[in-house]
Amino acid sequence: LRMVQATAMGNEPISDEELRPHVLSGFIGQPTLKAQLQLFLDAARKREVPPDHILLAGPPGLGKTTLAMIVANELGVPIRVTSGPAIQHAGDLASILSSLDAGEVLFIDEIHRLPRAAEELLYIAMEDFRVDVMVGKGPGASSIPLTLPRFTVIGATTREGMLPSPLRARFGFTAHLDFYPAEELEKLIARSAAVLGLELAEGASHQLSLRSRGTPRIANRLLRRVRDWAVVHDLDVVTDEDVREALELYQIDAEGLDRLDIAVLNAIVKQFNGGPVGLNNLAAMVGEEAETVETVCEPYLVREGFMIRTPKGRVATRKAWQHLGITMPDESVG
Ligand code: ADP
Repeated sequence: LRMVQATAMGNEPISDEELRPHVLSGFIGQPTLKAQLQLFLDAARKREVPPDHILLAGPPGLGKTTLAMIVANELGVPIRVTSGPAIQHAGDLASILSSLDAGEVLFIDEIHRLPRAAEELLYIAMEDFRVDVMVGKGPGASSIPLTLPRFTVIGATTREGMLPSPLRARFGFTAHLDFYPAEELEKLIARSAAVLGLELAEGASHQLSLRSRGTPRIANRLLRRVRDWAVVHDLDVVTDEDVREALELYQIDAEGLDRLDIAVLNAIVKQFNGGPVGLNNLAAMVGEEAETVETVCEPYLVREGFMIRTPKGRVATRKAWQHLGITMPDESVG
């Protein structure tokens, strides 16, 4: 295996962090979003104030955390990272808020999972830059309002609909990240391959881009598995055929569907005769949390036309039946 970089010898694991771009110009794809964000950041810099709060919505692995870090980096301010599930009590959030420096970015991943009391505290802090700190315990306890320096919240969510509207209204800029077209993933794969010191033949990066479910995180993950393949087989250059063989081993099919996607489609088609089936039944059938099926699997299956959501439940499309190689019962005949 020819190594482009001496550090990428394969014995040092290269983490997600090392594949993350640090500046907006290095962020691949999403041109509209990038232009909006650029303007937003330029204005804040020119006015010399921290920018408004930002909400990033979209399926996992599309670059929400990466964008948050880019924003902080471009503004030259520190970033504090937390998440909805990590904050169990409003007090946890109060102590984070009261320790923020002026201009700092507070990144809250899975913000739709904040406890209700923390949510209320957050939107007051976002609006008025104030937090009420409880002092003492029991009947003698009192709350003291504490003024905060101006800071910027960047919230990320896979379920925008679950955010209460008062909280959603506090964000001055909301961006929706969408699945990436194969051409953009191909650029991303080329960039990551260079970082990993892996040489891909022309067809190989294309093949990888088609099988990455429109998702940068998956593209990077598959690329690493392909790198394993190249190391084990002593390859100088990875071909289209190598990618196919390596990914088959990991049960990624030609449409980029993985084991769980296929399990979901199989359940609808085989157990429920094509649907409609409710989310909870479907999740139970494949042994996954309903939220995982809904936020990880479904957006891609729906977008690629394998499944539709109806008021009565999920329905497999003709394309899904065909993909599974099962003949669809003809409705016009029975
Ligand atoms: P999310 O927070 O939406 O789940 P991340 O920001 O953690 O997703 O992105 C997952 C991985 O994909 C990161 O390691 C990052 O390197 C890569 N990535 C995501 N979006 C892009 C992009 N537009 N350009 C380059 N790399 C990206």
